[in-house]
Order: sequence, then structure tokens, then C-alpha cells
Amino acid sequence: MSSEDQERLESQCSREGLQVSRAHLHRAAIALGSNLGDSAATLRAACDRLREHPAIALQSCSSLYRTPAIGPPQPDYVNACAVVETELGAIALLEELQAIEQAFGRQRLEHWGPRTLDLDLLLYDHEMIHHPRLQVPHPHMTERGFVLLPLAEIAPPGCILSPRKAS
Ligand code: AMP
Repeated sequence: MSSEDQERLESQCSREGLQVSRAHLHRAAIALGSNLGDSAATLRAACDRLREHPAIALQSCSSLYRTPAIGPPQPDYVNACAVVETELGAIALLEELQAIEQAFGRQRLEHWGPRTLDLDLLLYDHEMIHHPRLQVPHPHMTERGFVLLPLAEIAPPGCILSPRKAS
């Protein structure tokens, strides 16, 4: 539908006392991490993928943070966070993040092992999601400084990290 058609429809609906709204945008926070190859370049390129994605509007990307790896001995990580808006549902957004991971050749050889690119969905609006493929808020996000620090840098104040306002 063209924007003129949409406006015409909205004004007709408003004359008829109907409430309409444009497609609902969801706000989500994403953690990015890498410790294989040129990790800083990988994270910048992953942010570009989010920026260029037709169903995702990148709102902000944090600075890059170098952090020691958890798990078996391996190179330091480079971490960052991004805030996006999207019309995608949470599972569809997760699938897009996994497709980006795959595009960067992510291999799952070892649990907690090194990785070219890891993308985690931290927050999706204020939703709590318990799905076999998706836990939101990400269960470990509050234990990880390498998530909280970049997220605090870019999270819109009073918005994504604040408690839901009573309606
Ligand atoms: P990881 O190896 O840590 O990236 O974990 C990937 C697996 O965790 C995938 O099978 C996902 O379906 C699952 N998963 C559950 N919750 C999340 C989340 N919030 N963000 C990303 N992956 C998740």
C-alpha cells in the first residue's frame, strides 16, 4: 500500500471512529562477540549487515570492547552491543541473526569455544520469552560485564532497560 493510500485509509477510519496504527515496530538489543580472525572487522561488518537488512533498522552500535574469554584457553574476545528496531517477531529476528552468523562462517565445534561471530538476542521489547529456541531476556546477560557495559553505552535512557510503565 502506498503512503497516500495508507493516509487516506487512516483518515477514513478516523472519521469512522476506528483506531488504526502503522505496523508495530519492536525494539531489540543484540550482543555481538568474536574471537577468531580479525574480530574488530567482523563486528563492524556484522553491524553493517544489520544496518543494510531490509527488515531491521539499526538504531545504534556501541564501541568495541576487548575482553578475556570464558572457557578453554583461547584468544580474547571483541564484544559490542547493538539496538535495532524491527517488524520481525522475536523468533524471526533470531533466525536472521543466525543467518548472519552463518554468513561469517561461524562454526560450533566446541561449547564455550572460539567463534568467528556470535550474535545473541538480549532483549525484545519488554517481553519475557521462554521458547525451546529462544530465552529472552538472555539468561546470562546480567552476569556479563562485556554485555552490560556496551549495552549501557547505547541503551536509550528510560526505555529498553527500564521497567515497563503501568498502563
Ligand atoms: P550460542 O552458542 O551461545 O550462540 O547459543 C546458540 C543457541 O542458543 C541456539 O540454539 C539458540 O536457539 C539458543 N538461544 C536461546 N536463547 C537465545 C538468545 N536469547 N539469543 C541467541 N540464541 C539463543
